[in-house]
Order: sequence, then C-alpha cells, then structure tokens
Amino acid sequence: VERTLSIIKPDATKRNLTGKINTKFEEAGLRIVAQKRIHLTQDQAGEFYAVHKERPFFGELTEFMASGPVVVQVLEGENAIAKNREVMGATNPADAAAGTIRAEFAESVGENSVHGSDAPDTAKEEISFFFSGLELV
Ligand code: ATP
Ligand code: MG
Repeated sequence: VERTLSIIKPDATKRNLTGKINTKFEEAGLRIVAQKRIHLTQDQAGEFYAVHKERPFFGELTEFMASGPVVVQVLEGENAIAKNREVMGATNPADAAAGTIRAEFAESVGENSVHGSDAPDTAKEEISFFFSGLELV
C-alpha cells in the first residue's frame, strides 16, 4: 500500500468542512492513518511550497496557507497518491469533475480546500515535513 500527504486548507477548516472532506477520502477507500490540526507561519508555508517560489502566486499562496488552521494528514491505500488527486479534482474548481472535493467545496484556484502530494518522492518528503516516525504507525 501507498501513503500520501494531504492538507485540508484554511478555507475549508474555516467553513467546518473537515468531516465532510474526510468522508470523501474514506468513501474512496483511503484510510486516515495520521492527522493533526496546526497553524503554519508564512515562513513554514513557504518552506513547504518552496517548489513554487518563483511562481507569481507564491506570496498569495503562502499568505493564504498561514491565514488559519490547516489539518495535515497521511492517507493510506492502494495507489493513494493518484486516488487522492482524483478525489480532490482539478486545481481550479471550475475545471473539477462533479463529485470531487474541489468541485463541491473549493472557492477559487487559490482557495481550493485541499492539497495532495503529486508523486512518491514528494509524498515521502511532505509526510516527513509534518510527521515524525513516532506519529506514524
Ligand atoms: P496542491 O499542490 O495544493 O495539491 P495542485 O498540485 O493541484 O495543488 P499546484 O500547481 O501544485 O496545484 O499549485 C499549488 C497550489 O498553488 C494550488 O493548489 C493553488 O492553491 C495554488 N495555485 C496554483 N495556481 C494558482 C494560480 N494561478 N493562482 C493562485 N493560486 C494558485
Ligand atoms: Mg501540487
């Protein structure tokens, strides 16, 4: 089985959608094997999203990710990385397929409710960014 790092973003925690989003993961066969609610500083958000440092939306993205609490979680399942991205839907909610998290809950391309790792190497890196070995069983 595979593991991936998921973040329920500030727009979603603010609207009390954590449970509804977690239900989408569980209904897709993903198991939440670690989870915690934290409030990132803008510097920490910038470190997490360092790959986007040169993108024009970097400032907006890191400010948003630090604007309220997030729920960071590890999802486990067969093909968890691809399955999670399928359940999330396209980055821009206007392009997201019906029934996906972003189609149902996201407000805009910036405030799009969830993050999910995009490959095995980034999943590994992102999981260890937020969770210690002791927190992962
Ligand atoms: P994530 O990495 O959050 O799972 P993603 O892989 O679908 O999303 P990326 O291209 O990695 O999308 O972009 C990372 C995040 O940056 C997006 O989720 C979104 O919040 C933000 N973002 C991407 N494009 C834009 C944009 N044009 N304007 C504002 N924010 C954007
Ligand atoms: Mg991405």
